[in-house]
Amino acid sequence: MSAPNIETIVSLSKRRGFIFPASEIYGGLGSSWDYGSLGVELANNIKQSWWRWLVYERDDIEGLDSSIIQNRLVWKYSGHETTFSDPLVDCRACKGRFRLDKLQDSQCPKHSSVHAGESGDCDFTEPKQFNLMFKTTVGAVSAEDDENALAYLRPETAQGIFINFANVLNTSRRKLPFGIAQIGKSFRNEVTPGNFIFRTREFEQMEMEYFCRPEDAPRIHQEFIDGFQEWFQSLGISSENLKLYEQTPAELAHYAERTVDILYRYFPEREDEDKQWDELMGIANRTDFDLKTHSKKPEVDGKRINPDSTEDLSYFDEATKERFYPYVIEPAAGVNRLLLAVLMDAYTEKTNAKNETRVILKLKPELAPIKVAVLPLAKNKPEIISMAKQIKKDLQPAMRAVYDDTGGIGKLYARQDEIGTPFCVTVDHESLEDNHVTVRDRDTWEQERVNTNELKNYLQKRLG
Ligand code: ATP
Repeated sequence: MSAPNIETIVSLSKRRGFIFPASEIYGGLGSSWDYGSLGVELANNIKQSWWRWLVYERDDIEGLDSSIIQNRLVWKYSGHETTFSDPLVDCRACKGRFRLDKLQDSQCPKHSSVHAGESGDCDFTEPKQFNLMFKTTVGAVSAEDDENALAYLRPETAQGIFINFANVLNTSRRKLPFGIAQIGKSFRNEVTPGNFIFRTREFEQMEMEYFCRPEDAPRIHQEFIDGFQEWFQSLGISSENLKLYEQTPAELAHYAERTVDILYRYFPEREDEDKQWDELMGIANRTDFDLKTHSKKPEVDGKRINPDSTEDLSYFDEATKERFYPYVIEPAAGVNRLLLAVLMDAYTEKTNAKNETRVILKLKPELAPIKVAVLPLAKNKPEIISMAKQIKKDLQPAMRAVYDDTGGIGKLYARQDEIGTPFCVTVDHESLEDNHVTVRDRDTWEQERVNTNELKNYLQKRLG
């Protein structure tokens, strides 16, 4: 089972401390969200898992952390200044503003039960292009409208990678093929943000640019498409809730040869199966566009396309004595969209012996914010409390552990189930005598007595 809709996850997140609306005490700020104590752990675990899988477990990928604010020329030559825009229409009837290509996903403010464009009253203006980059100014003396001080918050992490291609290549002594991975915040002034953390104006991306010989690009592209589907499943996402979408030639970005999106079933409640899906990540073959456009040398039709760059980002192949611009395969995923998919897929309901419905978040232990909660059965017995606190302390270096005595044992178990903690360890009167504790499994609710001397090993083994 998975969550019946995003709303279920919104309320669980608020109730338990995963995600809160941002600026809530001042009335909120459209589509901004703050990650609470559990949300930040889950997001960190997702990012670490991605980093481990790509940067540590493979031998051909380097890490990078580039600036959010770069020289404006980066965005000129990447094409973002001229082409990173969405078509926008205003409706004269309802006064709403919509993204033309997302009318189907936008509610009409006047007729709340229908999509924009579907009510008889809709009266749209001609589409206008709206650039999605957030502008800012750099420097203490800059005036708001000082063109020389104009800068952007990056709308993607990818460009920071391309402009560092030569730095990484030279310092890491890499040969093709190899990749550069980066995780960080990106900003887009989205026309119609929404659906909780699915589309926000500030979000986090996990992007990797894999540089290769042009003739190898189609094969490597396919390998990453297959690899990412497997990786999502290794994080516990059911294959039934994942599918591929091949972008049509009309949808492809101007630089891309082929792009395949991995979709997740974010809207299982929608009757029309086609509308249940939306993009979790995109995997693009960006050709040699990026390295070429940021290089000082290339000419197109006899004209230097970049008179500003000081670097030639072509690659010299020692073996063949050839110089060329590598192709780039880009798997780009959103941390927040993956976090939402992980939460939706882990959401399960179970009925207990009293016929009450309980929520269990069946997160993979690797992603669970807390791996083990240590609970005292009786709060009025100082020896039990100090034994439980000591067990928490002893486990902590090996796994994220918490101590909790804020309720009766039934309530404490329910809370840990709902936030996805794989194991609870309960200390009772008998523990003081026999040095054994009860280990309770989140998914089966089965309990087992384990000697505290073996507890760490036992849990480590079961956490995998
Ligand atoms: P969409 O079509 O949904 O706007 P996109 O195709 O523009 O997304 P990319 O530029 O390919 O997105 O970005 C890569 C990934 O970054 C997306 O697959 C998504 O996971 C994430 N992402 C992009 N925009 C947002 C956003 N506004 N909020 C949250 N995540 C986002």
